[in-house]
Amino acid sequence: MAAVALSGLAVFVGRLRADAWSPAPGPAWLLVEQGRFAEIVPGRTRPPHWPDDLPFLDLGRSVVLPGLVDSHVHLTERGDGTSTADLSTAELVDLGVRNAATALRAGVTTVADCGGPPEAVFAIKEATAGLPGCARTLVAGAPITVVRGHCWRFGGEAADASAVRDLTAGFTAAGADFIKVMASGGGTAGAPPWEPGFSEDELRAAVETAGALGRPVKVHCLSADSMRAAVAAGVRVIEHGKFRNAAEDGAGFDAGVAALLAEQGVVVCPTLSVGHHVLAAPPEAAGEARDLWLRRHPHDLGDFAKLAAAGVRMVSGTDAGWRHTPFDALPVELELMATSGMTNAAVLAAATGDAADALGLGGRVGRIAPGHQADFIATDADPVDDITALRRPHAVARDGVLLP
Ligand SMILES: [Zn+2]
Repeated sequence: MAAVALSGLAVFVGRLRADAWSPAPGPAWLLVEQGRFAEIVPGRTRPPHWPDDLPFLDLGRSVVLPGLVDSHVHLTERGDGTSTADLSTAELVDLGVRNAATALRAGVTTVADCGGPPEAVFAIKEATAGLPGCARTLVAGAPITVVRGHCWRFGGEAADASAVRDLTAGFTAAGADFIKVMASGGGTAGAPPWEPGFSEDELRAAVETAGALGRPVKVHCLSADSMRAAVAAGVRVIEHGKFRNAAEDGAGFDAGVAALLAEQGVVVCPTLSVGHHVLAAPPEAAGEARDLWLRRHPHDLGDFAKLAAAGVRMVSGTDAGWRHTPFDALPVELELMATSGMTNAAVLAAATGDAADALGLGGRVGRIAPGHQADFIATDADPVDDITALRRPHAVARDGVLLP
């Protein structure tokens, strides 16, 4: 993929939204050097001390904001409802690189792969690192799961706390940026969502081992009990945060868990896109899943609104790759969050600075600030006024490299 690599760049911005909470955006000049923001100068006047021969990008008619973060993707999946189980590692890597490129075109400058076959995801991380035109890729390796638990086929089964520690250390040594653990079942046959996964002690083994190695832990929870165990074990970031029960009747919500998450400042990545895209897929492609998600999706949106109302902090993630969720789904995810109880500013924070912080990238990614990687997008309107403006980024840059 062609992309314009620039060692230095001067950008004039009509309206700079440096982060979700910055005041009404005004004009500014951005100096990019070595892939980072070197200087940010408010106003319309080009700083006179900047070199005259810098390449110049005029975004005077645009709102410019930080590149978006998709905190939950599966790069080794297609997101069209078909299985990739028959693909070779080389084919999975090729698919992953194309998926990371799709994400970047949608304004997503960073993605976090929440689990796949480890040899493929580590190779995708390496391939995308040096490839302009792809989102920056953080990886976990395989999700660590109980024996025959959710996603066991990726190779992350652990029978006890000691095996959890070994896998955590092993994936970190192999290049994992964070560790993904399954605290409940999910969509894998034989491991339904309301079934427990690891015990509190086993979850603590992951938190402590990863913490000592400087890696965040993201924990998949589809039931109230799994969230209680995760919080008790010291988990700081919960994936999905759903309240499924065996009856699938929407009665699984637990206000006590919502209060606990809010009180402890535990972050939830709600992945509302999955249900949305199952229902948006052609009925013949969605198959049996359609009936299930026709029931589930409204409950999920309602439970998300209750979590948001309880004051639970959110970060944005789509679960792209899973079922029918495409890699450019993040703007739709953000609209679902905004129409289900969050303000546009809080949604934008969830998709930028807060998401970067939860991934351990705070101070490097997620804000337009000196020293941060020069990840930015340009839109026609301020997403704080109109969140749908994120559907139409007309310029996208990662590490100061502009997509053509
Ligand atoms: Zn997932």
